[in-house]
Amino acid sequence: MALRGDSLKYRGARKKLLETVRKNLDELGITDEGVLEAMMKIPRHVFFDSTFDFKFAYNDTAFKIGAGQTISQPTTVAVQTALLQIKKRDKVLEIGTGSGYQAAVLMEMGAKVYSIERQKLLYDRAQKNLPDLGYRPRLFYGDGFKGLPSFAPFDKVIVTCGAPFIPEALIEQLKPGGIAVIPVGEGATQVMHRLLKKENGELHKQEYGDFSFVPMLKDRAK
Ligand code: SAH
Repeated sequence: MALRGDSLKYRGARKKLLETVRKNLDELGITDEGVLEAMMKIPRHVFFDSTFDFKFAYNDTAFKIGAGQTISQPTTVAVQTALLQIKKRDKVLEIGTGSGYQAAVLMEMGAKVYSIERQKLLYDRAQKNLPDLGYRPRLFYGDGFKGLPSFAPFDKVIVTCGAPFIPEALIEQLKPGGIAVIPVGEGATQVMHRLLKKENGELHKQEYGDFSFVPMLKDRAK
């Protein structure tokens, strides 16, 4: 799946990138072979805005994708996905569809993905690109702070923008036993939080260091 526009050159670059990503996951003690395999299968360059930018696709850096937003750094995608402990058929809510790359990684691992984006341009693009690549998530143009109450509950929730606080609606929409991975903080960096919702509804919180995200903003962009 998802090989349109791929080549030996890009696969070689991807293999090297994933060695770096693996090292970073090892350091955090969260290496997940399934995540690395999924990322090896997906050509990241096709999620870029312009063919002129393809040469940057296999650097371990975030990159602009239009509407002032970025595709997350590969290590960040791998860390968030590994922390979610994805199992086949998990129902996952993503906040911040952006390029659709993170959604593709989740789907490659067998998850059913529901993803919300507040920028119409990016929503429209993902709505076209992901099915072209063979991925069929449910995409929504809306405000991620509200989640998707009519599709809840979810096994997993992933926020791919910097949240000023832990949005209550997202925790409400998480199943007991479910996991939410949310970068929290309003400054230049956010602290990665992994929240496990216990059967009694209590949250067990763990922190996984500093990351840098575009901000989570209220309402749909005009
Ligand atoms: N997961 C994306 C990362 C994109 S960056 C990828 O793989 O490319 C984060 C995205 O979150 C941006 O596109 C931004 O517009 C979006 N965003 C910010 N606040 C949001 C909100 N309240 N609801 C939905 N999307 C939001």
